[in-house]
Amino acid sequence: MRGFVVQYTPADLPASAPQHGGIAFLDRDGVLNIGSPDYINHPNEFQTLTNAPKAVGMLRRAGYKICIVTNQSAIVRGLWDEHRLHQIHEHMRQIFLEKDSDAHFDMILGCPHRHRDRCMCRKPRPAMLRFGAKVLRGLQECKVGQSIFEPTAEDGEVDWWGEKPVPQNSFDCMVGDRGSDMGAGWAQGVRLFQVDDSTGIFPVVENILNSEHTGDDFHPVR
Ligand SMILES: [Zn+2]
Repeated sequence: MRGFVVQYTPADLPASAPQHGGIAFLDRDGVLNIGSPDYINHPNEFQTLTNAPKAVGMLRRAGYKICIVTNQSAIVRGLWDEHRLHQIHEHMRQIFLEKDSDAHFDMILGCPHRHRDRCMCRKPRPAMLRFGAKVLRGLQECKVGQSIFEPTAEDGEVDWWGEKPVPQNSFDCMVGDRGSDMGAGWAQGVRLFQVDDSTGIFPVVENILNSEHTGDDFHPVR
């Protein structure tokens, strides 16, 4: 598989939400659910982190569209295929909506590759974030539901030694537990929020919602 796995499920923001157009890019494991060195291999291994659904609901009520960007190399390693990833994500969607009826994911993107596959989508490369931003901003067509998108080399190109790019929207942010998440968010120019993988997104959500908060400092090559 050369592209990344796409689930596109656009939905209106809650009626009272401000319309600033910001996108919250969220890593999955260690941010929304408890991660595992052996991967999350089945819906029944998915354990939500405390208050993660509430945090996603708060972001949508505050006007953010939600784009999950997750590295899932178990696919290219042959442990399972993209249909299993879709099953896990359907389960995740259900759990989140049960806990908070606004905790909807507009888009879920998964890179199936290993580091050595040298793809453009595996974080810290930003191809998934760039694609998510284009689709959610109406600049690129995407089939609603499941698909595979194959990025070009340009989609993953980054000058890691240059200045952090200017964000498309100053509200945009990336939330992750690893340096690779911060790198991908840096390449997209967005505010960065690194979280502890044992507590996930909830402890940082107030900072994200404070649009004056510029996020964490990060230097990809230092
Ligand atoms: Zn990839």
